[in-house]
Amino acid sequence: MKNVLLTMLFTISSATVFANDEKPKTIHWTYTGATGVEHWGDLSPDFITCKTGKNQSPVNISTHTVDANLPAVNFKYNMLTAKKIINTGHSIQVNMWSGSGGEIMVDNKLFQLKQFHFHTPSENTIDGQHAPLEAHFVHLNKSGEITVVAILFELGTADRTLANLIKHMPMDKGQENTLDADVLDHMQGEFNSTQYFRFNGSLTTPPCTEGVRWIVMKKPMSISKEQLEVFQNALKHPNARPVQPLNARVVVQ
Ligand SMILES: [Zn+2]
Repeated sequence: MKNVLLTMLFTISSATVFANDEKPKTIHWTYTGATGVEHWGDLSPDFITCKTGKNQSPVNISTHTVDANLPAVNFKYNMLTAKKIINTGHSIQVNMWSGSGGEIMVDNKLFQLKQFHFHTPSENTIDGQHAPLEAHFVHLNKSGEITVVAILFELGTADRTLANLIKHMPMDKGQENTLDADVLDHMQGEFNSTQYFRFNGSLTTPPCTEGVRWIVMKKPMSISKEQLEVFQNALKHPNARPVQPLNARVVVQ
């Protein structure tokens, strides 16, 4: 299972799953059409959780949800370790050098930042409303557990960090560009935040694996209309899975 997860996190444009003989097989999936979101669970036995799972992501978050007095998450990010920006066909993804772009502490466990990527429009909704863009920071711990930190972007002024990524934006599927260390240096930092929503969920792409800790930051970042259009043009289609039923879950804040 751990290998499958690691493979999923770094796969390009299609889901690669290792069978017992360790020969990878590739399963094509998309957001629309015959291999679109409604059909993911039927494309492969490995994707069955996409249709049978009860703790699926994304979800709609009500701002009137339970107040659980959540502890601060400690972020220690080091974006100098960002290596490549890749157009996977499913997303725009930034991978880290040597497997880590920093750390977060959640539930007294240390998670390392492996990659971050973007969805437009947002996948999670707040009080039923999509944001134009959502970033997912994907972390793994030693046991292969996953924590995703989500940041929503609202239309406004241009964002400097995104501007630096956009300089290197891979506009075509399969294209990958190297990031200059200096364009990301201002993203270093350590901070604590208690301002987030928290729930259990899944990967939002096949194989829709559950047991993922989700942290959605309350404070949105800002993106200009022109910047948003670069992401939309690079992706060529919306890449947001529809919101999934909460079932027995509670979102806390
Ligand atoms: Zn994502």
